[in-house]
Amino acid sequence: MTSTDAAILGALLDEHHPRKVEASEWAHEHLRDPRLAERDASCSFWHDGWAALAERGALAMIADPDHGGSGLDLVDALLTWEGLGHGCTDDGLIFAATSQALTMQLTLDRFGSDLQKKEWLAKLTAGEAFGAFAMSELESGSDAFSLTTTATPVADGWRLDGTKAWVTLSPIADVLIIFATTDPSLGRWGITAFVVPSDTPGLTVGPNMPKMGMRTTPFAMVTLDNCVVPDDARMGAVGAGASIFSAAMEPERGFLLIGNLGALERVIDTAVAYARTREQFGTPIGSFQAVSHAIADMKVGHETARLLLYKAAALHQRGTPSMLAAAMSKLVASEAALRGALSAVDVHGARGYVTEYEIERDLRNAAGGVIYGGASGIQKNIIARMLGLPT
Ligand SMILES: Cc1cc2nc3c(=O)[nH]c(=O)nc-3n(C[C@H](O)[C@H](O)[C@H](O)COP(=O)(O)OP(=O)(O)OC[C@H]3O[C@@H](n4cnc5c(N)ncnc54)[C@H](O)[C@@H]3O)c2cc1C
Repeated sequence: MTSTDAAILGALLDEHHPRKVEASEWAHEHLRDPRLAERDASCSFWHDGWAALAERGALAMIADPDHGGSGLDLVDALLTWEGLGHGCTDDGLIFAATSQALTMQLTLDRFGSDLQKKEWLAKLTAGEAFGAFAMSELESGSDAFSLTTTATPVADGWRLDGTKAWVTLSPIADVLIIFATTDPSLGRWGITAFVVPSDTPGLTVGPNMPKMGMRTTPFAMVTLDNCVVPDDARMGAVGAGASIFSAAMEPERGFLLIGNLGALERVIDTAVAYARTREQFGTPIGSFQAVSHAIADMKVGHETARLLLYKAAALHQRGTPSMLAAAMSKLVASEAALRGALSAVDVHGARGYVTEYEIERDLRNAAGGVIYGGASGIQKNIIARMLGLPT
């Protein structure tokens, strides 16, 4: 067995892995914001929490050491993010960090030019800059390659026109990866990616949009109106955008739910503690099978999702195709988190429903997981396609 295999097995078998426990304890101490409920209500990002995460190296873990990264194994990074998701009750903060690290930074790291990486990666991994990844549009969500944002060749560069939708971190982003078509008649083969600083004239970010959950992660519409960028803003070849997007989606699908898994474990801990102490009919409610079985189901969902996620990570780390594992990981983790959070509301009765006890927020935060990174229907399509079914 190689040391990598041993590390993977350790992560799979030990849900109290020391790296995870240490991250959870650290988050419990440093990332518990007494103003969280207030910030959740006002949809406010926690800059001090971000600075603490950055100082701990949480944004640098999987990035290239030549550009400020610590070059950690993916599995070790995931254990850390899982622990952070468990210890930090601001799920939006962890979602912001994992989105930036796994989707934006990793894509820049893998496909950016030397110039683009030199300009942005060290600042992003140090938490000094925010990055966003802009693919979705109002009319092209699941059908991502039907996007209509255009990139028109102009002297020395490209003119971008269109509107990107639901872009995580865009209200505070310094730089965005933007996908546009250079030739709509070519379909997916016309799509090209660009690295665009947010202060480029013609790029406007709309106001932070209030949403159901993950309210402390800002997101917004991004409008490009006669936004001219030099040719060296292009990421990869003309027409390579769909391939870059597909490659970027694999780690997003496989691993973005890692913070939600940590949060689900926290939700289970809370439900168990409550069911052991809350008495009705003269006995703890945990002694009622309806309650204990609901919590048992939460645990099975969590464990299944955890095994799938680390399996996808192991395959990814080995360079083995992991599309099927990543789609199953995304599907199972997002649905386990949502079902588990709903059960927790049920177990806590009215206390689960009112804002004061902060149980309902976990449910709202979990709901988005079945949408971003590819909705559940799309994951099922991938799984069916990988099984050889016509989709
Ligand atoms: C919190 C959050 C953060 C996000 N962050 C980003 C971001 O940073 N960057 C970005 O580019 N986008 C982002 N998105 C957008 C996200 O990627 C899209 O919302 C997602 O791809 C779904 O697209 P849609 O909302 O248009 O839904 P639709 O595509 O309209 O889907 C609606 C429903 O139809 C189902 N459906 C659609 N097509 C099929 C099909 N072929 N087979 C089966 N079922 C189908 C879906 O499963 C879903 O249930 C974010 C979304 C959320 C909620």
